[in-house]
Amino acid sequence: RARSQGKPGYAIFDNQMLSPTVDRLQLETDMRRAIERQEFQVHYQPIVSLLTHQITGFEALLRWQHPQRGLVFPAEFIPIAEETGLIIPMGWWILREACRQLSIWQQQFQSPQPLTMNVNLSCKQFTQPDLLAQIDQILEETNIAVGSLKLEITESVVIDNPELVKDLLLELKKRQIHLCIDDFGTGYSSLSRLHNFPISTLKIDRSFISRIGALGENSEIVQAIITLARTMSMDVVAEGIELLEQVSPLVALQCHYGQGFLFSKPVDSDGAIKLLRGKSVQLERQISRSVSVK
Ligand code: C2E
Ligand code: MG
Ligand code: MG
Ligand code: MG
Repeated sequence: RARSQGKPGYAIFDNQMLSPTVDRLQLETDMRRAIERQEFQVHYQPIVSLLTHQITGFEALLRWQHPQRGLVFPAEFIPIAEETGLIIPMGWWILREACRQLSIWQQQFQSPQPLTMNVNLSCKQFTQPDLLAQIDQILEETNIAVGSLKLEITESVVIDNPELVKDLLLELKKRQIHLCIDDFGTGYSSLSRLHNFPISTLKIDRSFISRIGALGENSEIVQAIITLARTMSMDVVAEGIELLEQVSPLVALQCHYGQGFLFSKPVDSDGAIKLLRGKSVQLERQISRSVSVK
């Protein structure tokens, strides 16, 4: 490592001493090397059926195991990765890695409905000319079950590039790749414009879920979103469920899927295997308790 080789500039590395600009430049430099140095990891957060209490699949979330800083979360590096374009190689890496992992789990944990994998795509990555070529190659390499890959993009990607996105979505649909709108509701004004697009799932943003009370108070927006989703034959996933009390109002509103710290934080692949083996007492207990509250 640079530090032990005593290179000037690395030996004195100290987070506290750096100005924000230098710190950012340092992160950017480090990020350029992080892929080849295999410092990125994928964590997996289960998506749970609120009706059957089973894990239906996972969302893949990027983590960076930085040699000096420790585990770095997306909020710190995704914005820089987007500005510099590094998000593109990083994005292909996590898509490939998540599909590779999914294919293994689908063989290990067989069920009538194969496990699914959600992967986030940034706007830049989604509008890359070689998106379909990359996806086709990854599908061929990893051999995941047809229909088990779900791509997450935000509303603004659709609204800002309607023509491109419409064509892409049709191509993705041919491959039975599902499209989810992430953080749905945060761009509420554009709600009606989505019905022209083949979108399979709306993920309701955590901000709407966290304000729901135990008796279903403050759930008007969630209710409106679910009603809209039904008329467009879309599934709904509630993001960021943290409290047991939030579950029964969601079930009552006919929201069938959920994700959040209540069930599990994002975990590494070993953690995900434990969840799949049902060894996470916490997950089982949480859900059966939450459902019995109903
Ligand atoms: P997201 O796609 O909306 O992912 C959900 C985020 O909410 C994750 O944060 C997850 O850890 C967090 N979360 C889940 N349940 C709860 C909960 O109950 N309470 C709270 N407080 N938070 C919860 P994370 O992993 O830090 O990721 C943040 C964002 O970074 C993601 O939001 C996504 O927009 C972006 N991101 C992460 N991985 C990737 C990636 O591989 N590619 C791209 N383009 N973006 C990514
Ligand atoms: Mg997401
Ligand atoms: Mg989200
Ligand atoms: Mg979010």
